[in-house]
Amino acid sequence: MVGLTLGLALAKGGLKVAVADSLPPATAVALEFDGRVSALAYANVRMLQVLGVWTHLAPKAQPIREILVSDGAVGRATSPFSLHFDAQEVGADSLGHIAENRHIRAALHAVAGQEKNLTLVAPAEVRSVTVEGAHVRAQLSDGSEYRARLAIAADGRDSKLRKATGIGIVGWSYPQTGIVATVHHDRPHNGVAYEHFLPSGPFAILPMTDNRSSLVWTEARHKAPAMLALDADAFDAQVAARFGAHLGKTKVVGARWSYPLNFHLARDYVRPRFALAGDCAHGIHPIAGQGLNLGLKDAAALAETVLDAARLGQDIGALDVLKRYERWRRFDSFTLAASTDALNRLFSNDIAPLRQLRDLGLGMVDAIGPLRRLFMRHAGGDIGKLPRLLKGDPA
Ligand SMILES: Cc1cc2nc3c(=O)[nH]c(=O)nc-3n(C[C@H](O)[C@H](O)[C@H](O)COP(=O)(O)OP(=O)(O)OC[C@H]3O[C@@H](n4cnc5c(N)ncnc54)[C@H](O)[C@@H]3O)c2cc1C
Repeated sequence: MVGLTLGLALAKGGLKVAVADSLPPATAVALEFDGRVSALAYANVRMLQVLGVWTHLAPKAQPIREILVSDGAVGRATSPFSLHFDAQEVGADSLGHIAENRHIRAALHAVAGQEKNLTLVAPAEVRSVTVEGAHVRAQLSDGSEYRARLAIAADGRDSKLRKATGIGIVGWSYPQTGIVATVHHDRPHNGVAYEHFLPSGPFAILPMTDNRSSLVWTEARHKAPAMLALDADAFDAQVAARFGAHLGKTKVVGARWSYPLNFHLARDYVRPRFALAGDCAHGIHPIAGQGLNLGLKDAAALAETVLDAARLGQDIGALDVLKRYERWRRFDSFTLAASTDALNRLFSNDIAPLRQLRDLGLGMVDAIGPLRRLFMRHAGGDIGKLPRLLKGDPA
């Protein structure tokens, strides 16, 4: 998702781009491959609009009108302190959109297919990237070779290209597993997203189209296999106990997915003629639904840095050009990664003094209007030095 978005931004800015993806296009858009959804921040939606991707995605995306955050435990009433974000309060129509990952990929593919400056080579794995003077050479698994001024790795958390370049990471695993499923419910969600902080981790209910919600259930790693192995009725009962009654009768539809959760930050984002973007550069806890948003912001910032250099006649692969991107994005990624890590540690337990402290925090943010609105701007990705694409302007 990050690689193709970045490829489109560069191609629309006038550069010739090749994007290689080891995933076959049919798999990339298949429900069986990825059952996740992404909460897209509204600043990133603006970029997808500029790139022409949103036209394809909008009919399938669900606007988030409100977000309710509460602290609780299964079988215990949720704390009286909760946090409520409402799009109307900031004069907006929505706080962002929920889109299925397969639909995001399909929309990106549809635009890529029309873009004359972009060649999508898929399925093809990049086997090696070698710097040769003023160029970089990439060898692909289909036998083809590409020569360019710059190579960008957006090959995900377990990036082989990052490792091959010798860029190290700081990282650790969480003792948690992310369980994902789609739930159909009787009552409409009215565009409300819920995040319940349960002792084993956050339990998010993200509104989808057609009276469906996506469940992102963070469970203790040692308990997750037993939950995943439950039969349909027992799994439905576990989900219902955590959902509460507000959406009526619930039923899990389709498969259950599980993801190991971990954290990493790359020590460098760039090398001569080489840059990292997306999960390849940083992997964060899904507690705030910001991983892809962070990667899309990388895409917008890197496209702007590279296109500005090209317009000035500079070498787009030169280290001093790429360092501008690194300076721009590394601090933001570090801050968000560290805050999601701290949030997860603070909320994923049932320790009474910590519970009181965080409930007080939720209540305080809820009571202070300007603070609440600042949080909403953060969630919308509308804060800090924004790349042009995130403001809704061409790169
Ligand atoms: C449970 C869960 C819920 C989440 N919810 C949200 C959310 O609500 N909002 C949000 O913003 N984020 C969310 N995230 C995070 C989000 O899914 C990731 O940040 C996002 O997928 C990263 O995108 P990416 O393009 O960088 O990497 P990936 O999605 O991992 O894509 C990497 C691509 O590189 C390709 N590839 C790999 N190696 C090679 C190679 N050698 N050559 C060519 N191609 C290669 C792969 O085929 C793949 O297509 C969630 C994550 C989890 C685990």
